[in-house]
Amino acid sequence: MAYDDRNIFAKILRGELPCNKIHETDHALAFHDINPQAPVHALVIPKGAYVSMDDFTAGASEAEIAGLWRAVGETARILGVDASGYRALANHGRDSHQEVMHLHIHILGNRPLGPMLEGGSLPPDGLYKRD
Ligand code: AMP
Repeated sequence: MAYDDRNIFAKILRGELPCNKIHETDHALAFHDINPQAPVHALVIPKGAYVSMDDFTAGASEAEIAGLWRAVGETARILGVDASGYRALANHGRDSHQEVMHLHIHILGNRPLGPMLEGGSLPPDGLYKRD
């Protein structure tokens, strides 16, 4: 899938939409999720134009990759979930239910998060072409 710079997170990066910022570096921006699934629910995004973990791991520089993951750890420490524990996850593609087509790492925490996977459904029609 080609990167489309009309996605919500691209607009946040360009300052066209607001976000509730937690942390920012040369390579990454962290902000609170607008629809939190846990008391702590942050998103950490690379500043580069990457759809998901797939093109990021194939094409990003070492500095971009290190910068994103260091920002994940630092964001968790800023939010105070480093001691209690947190889940860091990234959805890639249809089966994972990815809805925003700019790579983002979710950080979830501040309550017991339960088993890793529950249920299963696909994203709304239209986000993905049919195979
Ligand atoms: P995913 O299903 O992994 O693509 O997750 C997309 C996430 O982006 C969801 O948790 C949404 O609540 C979150 N989200 C969508 N729009 C915004 C926004 N404007 N600011 C912050 N989070 C958002």
